[in-house]
Amino acid sequence: MKIVICNCMRTIHLFPHDKGKCPFCCEEIKDQCIDNSFSVPLGFINDKLSDIDVAITLGEWNKALSMIEELMEWKPDFSELHWRKLLVSLKCKSDIEILSKGKVLENNPSFQNTIRYADEIHKPIYALIKKAEDEIVNLLEKEIITQESVDKVSLGVKSKPNEFQNEIAKLEELVSKEIKALDEVEKKLREFIIDYDKSVSSFKQKLTEIANKIKTTSEQRELTTERKNDLENYLSQHKKLNDDELVKIKDEYDKSLPVFKKLQDEQTKISNTIQSYVSQIDQINEKIKDMVYQIEKISQEYDAAFNGLRNGDYHFAKLKIKLRFDEILCDTFKTVTI
Ligand SMILES: [Zn+2]
Repeated sequence: MKIVICNCMRTIHLFPHDKGKCPFCCEEIKDQCIDNSFSVPLGFINDKLSDIDVAITLGEWNKALSMIEELMEWKPDFSELHWRKLLVSLKCKSDIEILSKGKVLENNPSFQNTIRYADEIHKPIYALIKKAEDEIVNLLEKEIITQESVDKVSLGVKSKPNEFQNEIAKLEELVSKEIKALDEVEKKLREFIIDYDKSVSSFKQKLTEIANKIKTTSEQRELTTERKNDLENYLSQHKKLNDDELVKIKDEYDKSLPVFKKLQDEQTKISNTIQSYVSQIDQINEKIKDMVYQIEKISQEYDAAFNGLRNGDYHFAKLKIKLRFDEILCDTFKTVTI
């Protein structure tokens, strides 16, 4: 792990697997090393640091950590030692790798120590990484917000609720028209029933009258023949009148019956139509409910991704924006400067 100033003017840590290329601008680095090695009597620290770097490159984290802690006793105020401890605590083999891990620097005690002990040579290296991290988080947050809108739009969230509301409004208008028609039909039916009841009661009254006459006649059986003839005559005339009346009522009833039946059919038909509109409204409401559920689901997922970003975890953001994640990292490496 060397310190170099690239042609892009960035001061960076260069690791063996960078193969001599700046991980920010990707250009070849010509020998532009900064010498920060220790001189006697602390010259042994240089060798120890090389050993630590080998362990870090090989991912031997425990070995690296114990060597770092051993060296800390000699040089606790050396920022590069704290930086190495930071790499080990995050299990990162390079500075660039830290940037793909998450927003991890701010609250990390090793990073805080690194900044505390940084001198003028080392400050730009750490500042560059910190700035890159801030920019990456910023860009990822924007990307997450954009992608959330894209996902919601793909559900039709922006247009469909309005379309659904319009459809419902149309159906409700139709229902209210049908209800008016139903009111009319039911009013006619009620009127018909009132008229019918009247006819039936007058019919019943006639029947009662006839029955009474017959009863009276049978009670007067003992009357004289002359009186009897008069009565029979009267009864026969009266019966004829009653019969005529009954026929009239029956005719009226027969005539009205089809009208009544037609009104009833109309009532059934309108009720069915209303029922069908109501079912359609129910179906649309179900669709809206489902859509609201989908939107909430998306919101929850993106909230998790967003909160993850802020809390230093890129996992959910990566899942959501996929390839864009690597693109954002690359773009930031190319553009970030201090
Ligand atoms: Zn460069």
